[in-house]
Amino acid sequence: MISHHIDTISDFASPETGLEAELDQLQRRLEQGRRFNIGFPGATDFDYTPLATFLTRELLNNVGDPYVDGVGRNQTKALERQVISFCADLFRAPAQDRWGYVTTGGSESNLYALQLARSLLPRAVVYFSDAAHYSIDKAIGLLSMEAVRVRTDQHGEVDYRDLHAQISQRRHRPAIVAATVGTTMSEAIDDVRRIADILDDLAVRDRFIHADAALAGIPLGLMHPDERPGFDFLDGADSIAVSGHKFLGSPTPCGVLVTKASHRSRVARGVGYTASPDATISGSRSGHAPLMLWYAINYHGIAGLQKRAELARTLAAHAYRGLQEIGWPSYRHEHAFTVVMRTPPESVLRTWVLATADGWSHLITMPGITEDIVNRFTADMATAVAASSNPPTIKQGNR
Ligand SMILES: *Cc1c(COP(=O)(O)O)cnc(C)c1O
Repeated sequence: MISHHIDTISDFASPETGLEAELDQLQRRLEQGRRFNIGFPGATDFDYTPLATFLTRELLNNVGDPYVDGVGRNQTKALERQVISFCADLFRAPAQDRWGYVTTGGSESNLYALQLARSLLPRAVVYFSDAAHYSIDKAIGLLSMEAVRVRTDQHGEVDYRDLHAQISQRRHRPAIVAATVGTTMSEAIDDVRRIADILDDLAVRDRFIHADAALAGIPLGLMHPDERPGFDFLDGADSIAVSGHKFLGSPTPCGVLVTKASHRSRVARGVGYTASPDATISGSRSGHAPLMLWYAINYHGIAGLQKRAELARTLAAHAYRGLQEIGWPSYRHEHAFTVVMRTPPESVLRTWVLATADGWSHLITMPGITEDIVNRFTADMATAVAASSNPPTIKQGNR
């Protein structure tokens, strides 16, 4: 057994099948997959080469609270605070009452938000929609919270009448509403202003509205507040979650959580040997993720990010038109990068990586997807549709 083990290690390290070959193979596989991946929402138009030295030679650990540097010096908390402040500005968080941190992803941002909400309102019921991301359901389970699922309309937006009815039945209880700002399947947006109005109408004062804006938070935040749907702090949100690897684009999953400092200070934990309060879900936290987000934000600038979002929307509109011309059932929400369609024929799914559930699929024109890629997809769709609409009699005649 021992010699077998040693053989395996030496095989692995030998020049032919060694590390370099393995890495080359991995790289080829990733490159091949890239062009056909139009179903998942990670931007790919980035190049972090200027940060290479930090990735290869530095352990960066932002342990604890981003706003308290602590004793460790190998951290990027000053940059992390800039990332939070950038998002907080887009989301109109109160200038003197904001807090947040860079998380491991939208899922952790959601978990943190619900944990915070539960600390503030221990007896609350959580309301979330059928189209909410699975991480909401998971967080509710982890936190053992009482929750109610609310219906959506056929395109994924919360059914406000059902929400009203459900809260109304429990109006003596505090309410935590998890709104989805850009649902995973269709990028539908639950309107936080309408949700706040419902809570007002029912006189539910003990409330917390969390906006899960993992996908659409940054692109919507870049729009003028008068032109975008209601989802931010002035609209009534108490916390907002975004994913860092989606619109901003980072080579490793990460996310951002923004909330009000006043909410957080009511539940803050003590300071340990790190000299920075244990304020987050995880202990040690990546110092590279904030560095990459900070770089992306400053590299593009607001105008550059706005342009990127506009290009993505234009491309989504183009993809939608292409499907309409073929006559393939599809739809697209206003402002969305996502185009939802009836699940394409098998031949198309063999080439293209789409996201599929319940007979519907979507493509999403994240930065990095080009018009050429969309056109190839539409052309493949046209071919497949033409082939499948051949009447069977013709096939028989060909035999
Ligand atoms: C992607 C997504 C999440 C999860 O984010 P991760 O960064 O993958 O953890 C949560 N909610 C919505 C709406 C999402 O689109």
